[in-house]
Amino acid sequence: MRDLTIAIDGYSSCGKSTLAKEIAQEMNYVYVDSGAMYRAVTLHMLNKGILKDGAFITDQVVRELDNVEIRFKFDSSAGRSETYLNGENVEKDIRTLAISKQVSAISAIPQVREKLVFIQQELGAKGGVIMDGRDIGTVVFPNAEVKLFMVAENDIRAQRRFLELKNKGEVLSIEDVRKSIARRDYLDMNREISPLRKAEDAIEIDNSELTEEEQLALAITIIQDKIKTVETAN
Ligand code: C5P
Repeated sequence: MRDLTIAIDGYSSCGKSTLAKEIAQEMNYVYVDSGAMYRAVTLHMLNKGILKDGAFITDQVVRELDNVEIRFKFDSSAGRSETYLNGENVEKDIRTLAISKQVSAISAIPQVREKLVFIQQELGAKGGVIMDGRDIGTVVFPNAEVKLFMVAENDIRAQRRFLELKNKGEVLSIEDVRKSIARRDYLDMNREISPLRKAEDAIEIDNSELTEEEQLALAITIIQDKIKTVETAN
């Protein structure tokens, strides 16, 4: 059985990356967090003063893109892959609410998507990869053998993300988190290029009422069924 490509898409804060990491570990696949790449570009534009108070000039962002180099390196002590922006580990810096609030505007720029989709396709070219994001099953890997689409109730998503950020020491209100998630979903679903949508052949997982273990077990069952279908077809 050759190594498959697994695409996980869905709304913000639905637990896509948690699930993707667990599947990667279980199947010994490479996990790629495509959202981290859009976050890193956003951080770079903030650092350069090109993005300021949520505003930017698209031409300046596009010109600056040439100076953005993103890599993932596996940190064996942390047991996970971390994001590097121009050689610097930015794993923590890209996960703040400030970045979350601004990333969707930057990710709607066609040239930003073009650059990142190219890198994502290269990273996944050999298969044996699981990637999560918004357009993985529709644009990055339209031929992925397995496509999952994650959804969860709004209140549950806000609560999960609020706790996650609070545990990292961010001072914020749940209302702020709720608004940020709703706005991000709106922008991601309504942009012109590669809007967030469920691929026709994606299988939806609603994890509102599922524990992490139940969610993983369900996903593994779906993947194993797919593997059987692929093997029978070949
Ligand atoms: O997955 P995460 O929440 O970290 O993604 C951050 C943002 O990056 C999303 O809200 C979206 O604007 C953008 N993104 C995207 N396409 C992807 C992954 C993320 O546009 N494949």
